[in-house]
Amino acid sequence: MDVDDVRFPTSKTLAGSDAVHKDPDYSCVYVTLYTDDPKVPRGYGLTFTLGRGNEVVKACVRALESHVVGKNFEKDIWNSMMEMKDHSGFYYRVTQDGQLRWLGPEKGVIAMASGALLNAVWDLKCRLEGKPLWELVSETEPENLVNLIDFKHIQDFVSRDEALNILKKVRPGWKSRVQTMKTKGFRAYTTSCGWLGYPEQVVREKCKESLKRGHRYFKMKVGSSDVEDDVKRASWIREEIGDDNVLMMDANQKWGVDEAIENMKRLAKFRPIWIEEPTNCDDVLGHAKIANALKKSKSVCGVATGEACSNKVLFKQLLQSQAIRYCQIDSCRVSGVSEILAILLMAAKAGVKVCPHAGGVGLCEYVRHLAMIDFVCFNPLDEMDRVCESVFDANGYFDEPCEFREEGKDGLFYKAPKLPGYARMKLDVLKSHNFPFGQVWNKEKKAKIVRKAMLHDAIKVVVKSSTTAMTIVVVAALSVVGFSVMSRVKKSFF
Ligand SMILES: [Mg+2]
Repeated sequence: MDVDDVRFPTSKTLAGSDAVHKDPDYSCVYVTLYTDDPKVPRGYGLTFTLGRGNEVVKACVRALESHVVGKNFEKDIWNSMMEMKDHSGFYYRVTQDGQLRWLGPEKGVIAMASGALLNAVWDLKCRLEGKPLWELVSETEPENLVNLIDFKHIQDFVSRDEALNILKKVRPGWKSRVQTMKTKGFRAYTTSCGWLGYPEQVVREKCKESLKRGHRYFKMKVGSSDVEDDVKRASWIREEIGDDNVLMMDANQKWGVDEAIENMKRLAKFRPIWIEEPTNCDDVLGHAKIANALKKSKSVCGVATGEACSNKVLFKQLLQSQAIRYCQIDSCRVSGVSEILAILLMAAKAGVKVCPHAGGVGLCEYVRHLAMIDFVCFNPLDEMDRVCESVFDANGYFDEPCEFREEGKDGLFYKAPKLPGYARMKLDVLKSHNFPFGQVWNKEKKAKIVRKAMLHDAIKVVVKSSTTAMTIVVVAALSVVGFSVMSRVKKSFF
């Protein structure tokens, strides 16, 4: 297994900036699994971060490597993926590792590291089967699909039997839905024109550019220190996109609950269909309170969240308490595809639309698969505001870049991926963006600091090893001398 720290210096352009993430460097921890199968030598997986901290996730993935290295893929990993008995299945061994789970469990760095590893395992399986992920899952019959879902902590909301009924009910027509994805694709929206750090001219230019590309759905960041700045930015975007196109807003957890309710009263005149992450990502009751307030005010705006929800249990509670109208799964925040399937299932049961979160390195390439799986296997309704996030700031780094199809008034649609696997980064991109030694980081101060620290640590290791080696040599020499002296003493006396 290889684990790479890959970073893109996006903080230079402020692409990706929002109310709480002022200067993100889009990054990912990239896992490569090696096999001894000459036909399918490797599987690839990743999780996304904003730069610093990528090294922490990388270390965590390394700590999980004993679960894959030296194992038989079919026997030890895939065929026992969800074996519940004694949590002996591969999914449990990774997500519930007896020592590492203390760092979570199932949240934060350990969940993201597990996700990177599990994404690589799913990618490898798809490559072995010669299919893109979305098609592999779409072809899976309900009886087998439920076997890929962990029901332990969600069965009070949806049991295995109920899940089977839901999936069987949806199953008829799945082949034609696969065709729809191949010919039409899945509706996309853009965040590329609404980053918080952009000045007016850039916002207006990006809106024009997105309209030209065929976008009809636009998301802007809100949560400025003064809500009047958000009002101003919303007015620029509305002016550019007109009344017929759709606007969404994203506060990135910047507000308190009551503050969110107040600010959304001020922003309601721009008719956003959702307010995303209006408050702390773990505050289920807070989201419910905001959702109720919006409902009472007869606003068209619903609550959306999910990109920072660490696991299926949090999604379960958001859905149970009717706190969200839009469920924003994230391909890298939770522990891999199996966990995503559990969330898609719960959203389908709750009748909540899944609008995947994307935007960073690899996220758009991943979620196009997940949105299509949702449409084919879980929720077959083709509704206008069922949209998947897209940005064009970070496209072109992978073997099969995201491509879009313009469908007139319907907007822009993600084309279905055709290549086997989940996503694979281009080798030259992987090399040039490797942190801190890749070519793009050569002259960057932040990389120089890390390189210096790495050099310092390496010297310490060498010095320590040399000291240890010298100690061994001295002890050995003293032992030889001591032995020879003792032998002489022995000879003289006896
Ligand atoms: Mg967001």
